[in-house]
Amino acid sequence: MSTLEIKNLHVSVDTEDGAKEILRGVDLTINSGEVHAIMGPNGSGKSTLAYSIAGHPKYQITDGEVLLDGQNILELSVDERARAGLFLAMQYPVEIPGVSVANFLRTAKTAIDGEAPKLRTWVKDVNAALERMTLDPSFSSRSVNEGFSGGEKKRHEIAQLELLNPKFAVLDETDSGLDIDALRVVSDGVNRYSAQGDRGVLLITHYTRILNYIEPDYVHVFVAGRLAETGGRELAELLEAEGYDKFTKAAV
Ligand code: ADP
Ligand code: MG
Ligand code: MG
Repeated sequence: MSTLEIKNLHVSVDTEDGAKEILRGVDLTINSGEVHAIMGPNGSGKSTLAYSIAGHPKYQITDGEVLLDGQNILELSVDERARAGLFLAMQYPVEIPGVSVANFLRTAKTAIDGEAPKLRTWVKDVNAALERMTLDPSFSSRSVNEGFSGGEKKRHEIAQLELLNPKFAVLDETDSGLDIDALRVVSDGVNRYSAQGDRGVLLITHYTRILNYIEPDYVHVFVAGRLAETGGRELAELLEAEGYDKFTKAAV
């Protein structure tokens, strides 16, 4: 069993007016086998949480810790975090011109495992992962995210997730911009990953729609840089019916 513990996490970014605190004491524990959904209004700090866990240099940790099986990952480089078993699917995946999907995936897999994957099985695995995401095999020769549609970017992220098979996956608005067919394909991928039983998912989303396909064990409401409420599926239904108003007003 693995555990990802976020403890009293405070994070600031530099702005023209000085440091601005975005995360104001986040506490959250995710055990392997669990799916946690974080829902919150725009600008509440959800992506900041994802980037801080992943190690984006723009976000300064001013207090707190993030422990993966007891090890404080905030002291690790981005690469070391990936090797420790963390995966982040970004809200806005970056383009990497000149680097093909095939090379990118192989480099990532090699970095994480510490050795190159066996070529024949690897090519088969990649093609199978792309096919499950309804991406053509020719997709692997395209430059990463360059000219990808919104749906292709998200499906590529989930193909990565399945191939790299980390301990914990942080998925930031993996549902945004997806039509109903792509949403189903992406959700099926997350569910396959999660169904292994010893994996943990932190699913960040703005809308409840994806929760019709991915059943969370816990739903958290995120407002103004911290968790305002935790519940089960019924909390998502309440948000669907009533919106974030009640929580944003209480948070001020
Ligand atoms: P969410 O993902 O919930 O929409 P974000 O984490 O993207 O929220 O942003 C939270 C807040 O932090 C917003 O007010 C945003 O403008 C601010 N913010 C995030 N990154 C930066 C940055 N690099 N510089 C200045 N402000 C930032
Ligand atoms: Mg946003
Ligand atoms: Mg965001």
